Amino acid sequence: MPTPTPETLVIIGSGPAGWSAATYAARAQLKPLVYEGAITEKNRMSGTLPLGQLALTSEVENYAGYPHGNLTGFLESALPASRREMMAPHAGEGVTGPELMELMRQQAVNFGTRVVTDDILKVDFSKRPFKLYPSEGGVVEAQCVIVATGASANWLGLPSEEHFKNRGVSACAVCDGALPRFRNKPLVVVGGGDSAVEEATYLAKFASKVHLVHRRESLRASKIMASRAHADPKIQIHFNSGLAEVLGDDSHGVSSVRLQSTTTPSQTTTLDVAGVFLAIGHTPNTEFLDGQLSLTPKKYIVWTQHFRTNTSVEGVFAAGDVADDYYRQAISAAGTGCMSALDAERWLAHG
Ligand SMILES: Cc1cc2nc3c(=O)[nH]c(=O)nc-3n(C[C@H](O)[C@H](O)[C@H](O)COP(=O)(O)OP(=O)(O)OC[C@H]3O[C@@H](n4cnc5c(N)ncnc54)[C@H](O)[C@@H]3O)c2cc1C
Repeated sequence: MPTPTPETLVIIGSGPAGWSAATYAARAQLKPLVYEGAITEKNRMSGTLPLGQLALTSEVENYAGYPHGNLTGFLESALPASRREMMAPHAGEGVTGPELMELMRQQAVNFGTRVVTDDILKVDFSKRPFKLYPSEGGVVEAQCVIVATGASANWLGLPSEEHFKNRGVSACAVCDGALPRFRNKPLVVVGGGDSAVEEATYLAKFASKVHLVHRRESLRASKIMASRAHADPKIQIHFNSGLAEVLGDDSHGVSSVRLQSTTTPSQTTTLDVAGVFLAIGHTPNTEFLDGQLSLTPKKYIVWTQHFRTNTSVEGVFAAGDVADDYYRQAISAAGTGCMSALDAERWLAHG
């Protein structure tokens, strides 16, 4: 059987970085192939379903070019009906995360990007053409690769947290907060940064009360976010406290949590709650690389050249949150996605 010709460019990942890279690469005639991730329970639980982290949020108010406004007509004309069916009806208040991501995907597809809905489980970057191993089996060869696999939510690692995942424990308020299980009930959010405050204020819309539990004596969140939490009458902040155990039973799920003081460990408090939301940061999705690219101590891909998206392997580029633990925004991910496609194009042209 003849060996298939290697792909010119494979992009792994389907957030703003991946789609922006794909749009630039497709317009440059590189015929990119995007692996957008698989639709599996494992990916749902870790927040890595296709379309990336932004698909887990509601309104996106800070992506340039999308002011507050009703996009219904635009969405109907820009997206095929089959893709719109998968989204909630447009609320008329500016773009939502899933809408923005569908639009980015469609823009890349319009220029000829091919998309495979599967995970890349393993790579071999030891020689060219590079080899990529999808979860459905087989091998894909590529002359050039852009890694844009983003990051996933962190968990505390408590056995009780694991036990009650999907039965009251979640790492995504926007995905799960409106479920009947949580409505008009007291809830806990664990964390003290911007995303914890965002989750707490979001949940306060549905919950009877939100306990924000933070292990330090003040919030790490930006001033504007912290003052939002302090001003919200439904949010009670528990400083110097950690989540020690999630309590409940198998038929009803979570019923309470045990908090432990971080300053006086013998002090514990029990709060009656129906849900626990973890908002304690993210881990870059780099495990599948199995050490074949240089990573930072926090496992983010290292950009090896100043203001370029090159990695430690020539011909492999990285874009978005997988290489950026500092900005972590959709627009900065899209920006480095653009840069990675331009870097790949120039590298393919000149080696
Ligand atoms: C709840 C929430 C709200 C946010 N709100 C905003 C906001 O309002 N404005 C803003 O600018 N930013 C926001 N952000 C941050 C923003 O979503 C991220 O900075 C951005 O999505 C990062 O984009 P990315 O392309 O690097 O990767 P991601 O969005 O993380 O997407 C990467 C995707 O690649 C796929 N993938 C991963 N591994 C593999 C693999 N091995 N094979 C194939 N595919 C794979 C998965 O589908 C994964 O989800 C928010 C984040 C969260 C979690």
